[in-house]
Amino acid sequence: MFEIQVERSPDKTAVVFENTQLTYQQLNRRANQLAHHLRSLGVESGVLVGICLERSLEMIVGLLAILKAGGAYVPLDPTYPTERLAFVLQDTQTPVILTTARLLKSLPAHQAQVVCLDSEWEMLTQNSLENLVCEVTPDNLIYIIYTSGSTGQPKGVMIPHRGIYNQLQWRQTTFELTQADKVLQNISLSFDPSVWQIFWSLCFGAQLVLARPGGHQDPAYLVKLISEQQITVMALVPSMLRALLEQKGIENCQTLKHITCGGEALPVKLIEDFFSKLKLDNVLHNCYGPTEASIDATFWKCQQNSNYLIAPIGRPIANTQIYILDEDLQPVGVGDLGELHIGGAGLARGYFKRPDLTREKFIPNPFSQEPGALMYKTGDLARYLGDGNIEYVGRQDSQVKIRSFRIELGEIEAVLAQHPAVQQSAVIAREDVLGDKYLVAYIVLDRDRAVKIAQLRRFLQQRLPEYMVPSAFVLLETLPMTPNGKVDRRSLPEPAQIRQELEGTFVAPRNEVEIQLVKIWQKVLGMQPIGIKDNFFSLGGHSLLAVRLLAQVEKVFKKNLPVSILLQNPTIEQLAIILSKSALVKSWSYLVPLQPCGSKPPLFLCQGISIYQPLISYLDPEQPVYGLLSGHEQEKLVKQNRLEELAFDYIQEIKTLQPEGPYLLGGHSFGGVIAFEMAQQLISQGQKVALLVLLDTFLPGTTKAISSSERLSFHLNQLLQIGPTYIVKNVIEKLSKSYGSFALKHKFFRIKTLEHLVGHAAYYGAVLKYAKHYVPQVYLGRITLFMAREKLVRVEPELGWTKLVAGELESYEIPGDHFGLLKKPNVQLLAEKLKVAIDKGLAENY
Ligand code: AMP
Repeated sequence: MFEIQVERSPDKTAVVFENTQLTYQQLNRRANQLAHHLRSLGVESGVLVGICLERSLEMIVGLLAILKAGGAYVPLDPTYPTERLAFVLQDTQTPVILTTARLLKSLPAHQAQVVCLDSEWEMLTQNSLENLVCEVTPDNLIYIIYTSGSTGQPKGVMIPHRGIYNQLQWRQTTFELTQADKVLQNISLSFDPSVWQIFWSLCFGAQLVLARPGGHQDPAYLVKLISEQQITVMALVPSMLRALLEQKGIENCQTLKHITCGGEALPVKLIEDFFSKLKLDNVLHNCYGPTEASIDATFWKCQQNSNYLIAPIGRPIANTQIYILDEDLQPVGVGDLGELHIGGAGLARGYFKRPDLTREKFIPNPFSQEPGALMYKTGDLARYLGDGNIEYVGRQDSQVKIRSFRIELGEIEAVLAQHPAVQQSAVIAREDVLGDKYLVAYIVLDRDRAVKIAQLRRFLQQRLPEYMVPSAFVLLETLPMTPNGKVDRRSLPEPAQIRQELEGTFVAPRNEVEIQLVKIWQKVLGMQPIGIKDNFFSLGGHSLLAVRLLAQVEKVFKKNLPVSILLQNPTIEQLAIILSKSALVKSWSYLVPLQPCGSKPPLFLCQGISIYQPLISYLDPEQPVYGLLSGHEQEKLVKQNRLEELAFDYIQEIKTLQPEGPYLLGGHSFGGVIAFEMAQQLISQGQKVALLVLLDTFLPGTTKAISSSERLSFHLNQLLQIGPTYIVKNVIEKLSKSYGSFALKHKFFRIKTLEHLVGHAAYYGAVLKYAKHYVPQVYLGRITLFMAREKLVRVEPELGWTKLVAGELESYEIPGDHFGLLKKPNVQLLAEKLKVAIDKGLAENY
C-alpha cells in the first residue's frame, strides 16, 4: 500500500521530524536500501527484527524496511530498563536488531546481528534503491508487541498483517484521510496506536509529523506542535487529553479533524470540556480495543450534551464482532453485565511461545460459521445499551490502567517477590482526587532484613518500565487478610493515613508561602495533611499532576515554573525557597528553557538557542537543558563591563533553578569562555562543577596570530550563524571605519542582509570587548573540550587550553567545522560523547 502511494505522490512530503523531512520517494528509496541489506542478512517473511530507535526519520525508514524485507518488527523501547529488554530479546531471539551506535550501548547482551542506522548509513546507501519483491501474505506477522503479564513476565502479542490491513481500511472508509492531512506521531512503537498513526498516514498520502523524543509527555510542547504544524489527526489517552485542554494555546488547535482517544474509560466531563474549549464537532472519538485485537475494535463519535453517564465505546469496527457473554459463554440480555469477547479479522495469532495462555484467551467462537474461528476473551466487563452502543464498565481481574498504560498488578508483585528483603507484597491502584490512578505497593519485610524504600524503588526501576513503578511504598507489619486467607485489598490503608509512614516526620508549614503551597498540594493530590518535607512523587504525584500543580502555583504566585524545578525540588520546603527568592519573583533575564523536562540535573549552555537544538534532540530525554543568553538582547551584553560580571549574573540566575551543585555547564565558541568563568566562580564559592564542556572554544587571546582579514572573515562568518539579528543604528558606519567598507562586501561573509551584519557586528563588538579585558585563570577541575576537525583559523593545540588546566583536559575531535560540529550528522557523535561526560561527571560528584 505504501509503495502504491509512492507512485501516486512521489514528491509529496511523507514524514517530518523537527527541521528535517523526506518525500514519499526519498523515504521509499531509503527504506529499499535498508530492506535490501536486511535481505542479505536473511530477513524474509516470518523473521523477527528488533527495532531499538528513538522517534526519528530513521525509525520510520527502519519500520518500512523490515516490512519490505518481509520481516515482523519487535519494538525495543530505548527508555525501558535493560532487564526488560533482555527478557524480550531472550524470548524472541531476533536474529537482527536495528538501532544506532548510541543506543547500542544500552542494549543488553544478545546474539543478534546489529545494523546501526547512523554509523552504517553510508555503507547502506550502496544498496539498490528499487522496491523488493515481497512474498508476505495477510497471515504473516507484522509485529510482536509485549504487554504486561500477570505471572511476572511480559507476554508478546503476535499480530498478522490481516488485522492491521483491516484496521487501516476501516479507518480510511470511516474517517477518509486526504493528502492535505497531517498526522501526529506521538505514541511509542511499544503501543499499538503508533501502528495506525504511521501506516494510515503513509498508505494514504498524508504527512506524518513526528514529535521529538520525550515530547509525547509534554503537553505544552504538543499544543505548540499541533498549532504550529497544523496537525489534523492525532491519538491520545484521556489523561493527556485533559492535560492538553488545560494548556494555554489549546484554543489555537482548530485544525484538528480527527482525534482518537482510547486506552481507558473516557469521562463524560472530559468530553464536555473538549467541546467547551475546542468547539469541534465530529472530531473526538472514544476508541476501544486491546492489543490482542489489532488496535481498535469499537468506536463512538463523542457527542455534546448526550445523556450518557459513561461515554459508550460504541459499536464494532468493520469485520469485527463483539459478544457480551456470561460465564457459560451465553449472550447476556441488553443492559446486563458480561465479559466482552471479540471475534473477526483483527484477532492476534496468540501469545508468542505461550500456547497455554493462547488457548485460554483465544477460544473457539461458537457464533461463527467459519471453521476454526476464534474469539478473544478480553477480561473487560461491558453491557449493551438500549440504543445498540456498548458501555465499558471495568475489569474482572487485577489488570489496571495507569495513564492508560496496561499493567498487571501481579507482574509488579512478582518482581517485588524477587527482592530478598520482601516477604509479602500487594500492589493496588488508587485514585487521586481528580480521578487519576496511581500505584501503591504495600510491603511486609523479612524481619531480619532492613531495606530503604528508595532501594526497593530502584530495584523495580531496574526491572520494570517507569509507568509500572509504584508512586508510593508503604511498609506494613502484616497485610490484612480476608477470612478465606486472601489479601484483603480493600482494607489496605488510604495514602492519606499512611503519609507519616511514607515520609517520616510530619512538619507543618511555617510561613505564608508554605501555607499557600500546602493548600495547592492538598488540592492537587487530594489528600491531607501534607507536611513541608513530604516528597510530591512519593505522595502519588506524577508528571501530569506536576503540570497541574505548577499551573496552580502560577495562578497564586504569578510565577511560571518549569516541571524540572519540581523534579529537583520535590518538597514544599524546597519549592517555597525557590518561590521566595526575589530573583525569581521578577522573571528570568537570561535563562531560556531549551528542554525543561526531565529528572536529571539541568545542563546550562551559554550563548545560543537554535544552535543547540540538534544536540539536545540526541541527548537523554530526561536531560533538561537551559540556554543562558544575553546576545538576543544586545544592550544587556554590551551593558556589563566585564565578563566576570556577566558570569556572576548568570550564576545568580541559574541558582534560582538549581540552588546547589554539582552543576553542568558549557558553551559553544565564546559561550564556552563564559561557562569557563562561571565554573571558576562557582568553585571559588565552594560549589561542585560536574561538567565544564567547551564546544570549539579557543582560549581567548590564542588566535591572535592570524591576519586581521582572515580573523574578521572568520568571526563575521561565525557571527552570522549565531542567532537572531538586530538592527543597531550607526554600527554600520563604525564598522566601515574600523574595517573599511571592503569588509562589508566580502563574499566570504555570506551576508544576506545588511541588518544581519549590523546586528552581529554589535554583538561581536561586545565579545571583543570582553575578550580583551578577560584574563582567564588556571582551572583546577576537568575540562571536556570538543574541537571541530575542519579548522577555519590557525589554532594552538587543544585550542590553547593546555596552558590553563591544572586538572584534566579531555579533548575530542568532531567532524565538521566550527558550526558543523553542532549540526547533523556530526552532532550525533558529539551528543554521544557528551552524554558519557555528563554521566561520568555526575557519578563522580554525587
Ligand atoms: P491495551 O492492550 O494496552 O490497548 O489495553 C486494552 C485494555 O484497555 C482493554 O482491554 C480495556 O480494559 C482498556 N481500554 C482500552 N480502550 C478503552 C476505552 N476506550 N474505554 C475503556 N477501556 C479501554
